[in-house]
Amino acid sequence: MRAALKVDPRLTTHTQAYVALGSNLGDSHAHLDAAVAALHMAAGITDVKESPRYLTDPMGPPDQPDYLNSVCSLVTSLAPHALLDRLQAIEIEQGRCRPEQPAAITALRWQARTLDLDILLYGDECIQDERLIVPHAGIAERSFVLQPLFDLNAELFVPGLGPVAELLAIVDTLGIRPA
Ligand code: ATP
Ligand code: CA
Ligand code: CA
Repeated sequence: MRAALKVDPRLTTHTQAYVALGSNLGDSHAHLDAAVAALHMAAGITDVKESPRYLTDPMGPPDQPDYLNSVCSLVTSLAPHALLDRLQAIEIEQGRCRPEQPAAITALRWQARTLDLDILLYGDECIQDERLIVPHAGIAERSFVLQPLFDLNAELFVPGLGPVAELLAIVDTLGIRPA
């Protein structure tokens, strides 16, 4: 009998990443609970830790409920686009409908949704292509991601932008409240 093939864990790259979670449709706490559970279960993802949750004024169309937001830190062996694939699969498993057109060129941008999962940071990498922008393009303007990032790691640095603590100090935090 042949010996089972073992992959030396030292040959696999493990990257610390941060993922934003948001929901403003249905039972938002249950959607975030299910998303965190799915991250814990996902192949290639370990060490999942969720920040405190915040209630947040909605972006986009004003006639929608407040958001529930948090951030998860995790360690992953998935490449950035594979991590995005995994996150989008989790969104769809939880009933999110995605329009055919990219959000930026439709009137549907920032509409209410059961679950939104965005990659905020992937190690210290900067990525910019038609599918993925990392650090997330809105990170510096969004207190609802800067505050939970700071909660998880007060020393965190956003590549190209600076320390999370400094970004948080200058952003408007009026729209977020502890959940
Ligand atoms: P925003 O990105 O401003 O928060 P949104 O989350 O509402 O808006 P979506 O409709 O969820 O936007 O996603 C639109 C597209 O954004 C996705 O199909 C994905 O390819 C792209 N995208 C680019 N960068 C990222 C990222 N860092 N994390 C998640 N999706 C990203
Ligand atoms: Ca988003
Ligand atoms: Ca998104």
